[in-house]
Amino acid sequence: MDGEIKTLIDKDTIRNRIKIIANEINKDYKNKKPVIICILKGAVYFFTDLTRELTIDCELDFMRISSYDGEESTGKIKILLDASVDLKNKDVLVVEDIIDRGTTLSGLFDHLLKKEPKSIKTCVLLDKPERRTVYDISPDYTGFIIPNKFVIGYGLDYKEKYRTIPNICCVTNETEKELEKQREEIKKKVIKKNVLH
Ligand code: IMP
Ligand code: MG
Repeated sequence: MDGEIKTLIDKDTIRNRIKIIANEINKDYKNKKPVIICILKGAVYFFTDLTRELTIDCELDFMRISSYDGEESTGKIKILLDASVDLKNKDVLVVEDIIDRGTTLSGLFDHLLKKEPKSIKTCVLLDKPERRTVYDISPDYTGFIIPNKFVIGYGLDYKEKYRTIPNICCVTNETEKELEKQREEIKKKVIKKNVLH
């Protein structure tokens, strides 16, 4: 990674967006009792910030899967920690940090289907659609659609570093003006998404 750490999405924008997603989930799961699964480690802050905005009855669970080595996907997922709650006939909501090629979420979906849940939905903080190679899954709830950039912070890492940075950042040599344009673009896409929902 070459360049300086610069903010792509600041923490206030993240917080506001999370409130909107939480409202949608509260509406969609009213009178249900979903099991909400955090995919460790990347989704940890998103999951904790999101679930504390929920007013529905729910159970929380945690899974850890690996698919990445540094910046590149290995193409298959490995379950390092499986769900501890019995998911049979449950409504399951998976909370993941980012969908990039789609391999991880798709592999995870197949794994969870075998547990015979009543339903499975997915909620991702970030979507990098330009990099998609697996098209059999698209997230039900999305925080932000971002350009093809490797991002760090707010739980996301590069080789286990940078997770605790409060903003979503990228490492770049781009000018502030170029980045500002991308920040505006990201916010515009979110507004469009809200209108469409
Ligand atoms: P996919 O299988 O290519 O969709 O990759 C999804 C997984 O790759 C996520 O769960 C992340 O852990 C990791 N990942 C993908 N892009 C990034 C990034 O820009 N920053 C940090 N982790 C990433
Ligand atoms: Mg991950």
